[in-house]
Amino acid sequence: MKSRAEVVIIGGGVIGLSIAYHLGKLGVEDVVVLEKNYIGSGSTFRCASGIRAQFTDEANIKLQKYNIDRWRRLSDELEHDINFKQSGYLFLATSEEEVEVFKKNIKLQNKFGVPTRLISMDEAKEIVPPLNTEPFLAGAWNPEDGKASPFHVVYGFAKKAKEFGVEIYEYTPAVDILVEKSEIKGVKTEKGIIKTGIVINAANAWAPIINEMAGLKRDFIPIKPYKHQLVKTEPIAPGQIEPLTCPPAWNDSYVIQDGEDGGVICGTGLEKLTYLDDVQPTYDFMREVLKWATKIIPALKYVHVVRQWAGFYAKTPDSNPAIGRIQYVDEFYIAAGFSGHGFMMAPGVGEAIAELIVKGKSKVPLDWEWYDPHRFERGELRSAAFQIG
Ligand SMILES: Cc1cc2nc3c(=O)[nH]c(=O)nc-3n(C[C@H](O)[C@H](O)[C@H](O)COP(=O)(O)OP(=O)(O)OC[C@H]3O[C@@H](n4cnc5c(N)ncnc54)[C@H](O)[C@@H]3O)c2cc1C
Repeated sequence: MKSRAEVVIIGGGVIGLSIAYHLGKLGVEDVVVLEKNYIGSGSTFRCASGIRAQFTDEANIKLQKYNIDRWRRLSDELEHDINFKQSGYLFLATSEEEVEVFKKNIKLQNKFGVPTRLISMDEAKEIVPPLNTEPFLAGAWNPEDGKASPFHVVYGFAKKAKEFGVEIYEYTPAVDILVEKSEIKGVKTEKGIIKTGIVINAANAWAPIINEMAGLKRDFIPIKPYKHQLVKTEPIAPGQIEPLTCPPAWNDSYVIQDGEDGGVICGTGLEKLTYLDDVQPTYDFMREVLKWATKIIPALKYVHVVRQWAGFYAKTPDSNPAIGRIQYVDEFYIAAGFSGHGFMMAPGVGEAIAELIVKGKSKVPLDWEWYDPHRFERGELRSAAFQIG
């Protein structure tokens, strides 16, 4: 293991690896990623793979509009097929009031160039052939939203980062950050000390522990682990449920066909604040999610479930991540607390943090004030980021 590095990133999920890749791309050769387990083992490999620009506030819509352009080019850029598909997100309204809310959101998304539109149930049925259209009045449809393989994205970022000289140490937890008079001197791991002046906290649900290592109060950025689960069915014929299909009023339940093997991933908003490392799936979730999934797609009654798993939405009080420089310690940065939307944000967030470190500013349309890690201390909350599942 190296004893010195220019930058140490703590956390080898999609965010930490995207930052590492973008730093490497900018010519910062001497970067180390520390991962306490194996890369992707946190929330990233447990996610539903969805990517959308259908948010309900300006900051997230602008960032995601940019991100979708990045996702489109990412396989070429990484020289690794990440299986990105623009298969859309289809939200379904169950009442006239909800149709009005959809219209308001669509107007805002259109203002920033996201081509969402209101569609009829006839059109929805063409997009998702086995959909039960009867309970729904209209859909909000953005064909540019999509999905990608979390596995290939992680391996793609890691592979390319390594080509740029980044070193990734798996099974190497950071155990302390050495700080003297607000200056970072190094990171202590179980395998020795790496001297460095720049540290990035990309540990998501574990981020408060990393902040504490740097001498800060554990909860000055309050990120809490909420257990979220998914089940996946055996493969069905391709092209049946390509978009992420979600009636938000039905407990934020959703179904989406896996872009690689054709199994159907089903989620629902049965959320539970838990302790770190509790990734035990539950029978209650299985019952709840299948109740909703078979109402959305009745034919799923005849399909076997083959897997179930759990992971964390690492949530801040407003469900928006904390991204930026932490003022109390020089050259200490954070990108964590991504709730249910960190996978989709990874390319642009990695680029923005890397540019902030190297150039002091970024061309990514990321509203630093919106995601300011210090907002919670000031008692400021943003409007809650639109979250599903
Ligand atoms: C069921 C479910 C469905 C989801 N669906 C979606 C979706 O469809 N779309 C979407 O965009 N997002 C989704 N998400 C959210 C998404 O998975 C996360 O927001 C995203 O993966 C966050 O990436 P990350 O790199 O910040 O965190 P993580 O992947 O959690 O990575 C953090 C890493 O830090 C490591 N770490 C912690 N402490 C230390 C230490 N001391 N030293 C070294 N390493 C350490 C951890 O082991 C972990 O690997 C979903 C999440 C869940 C649970």
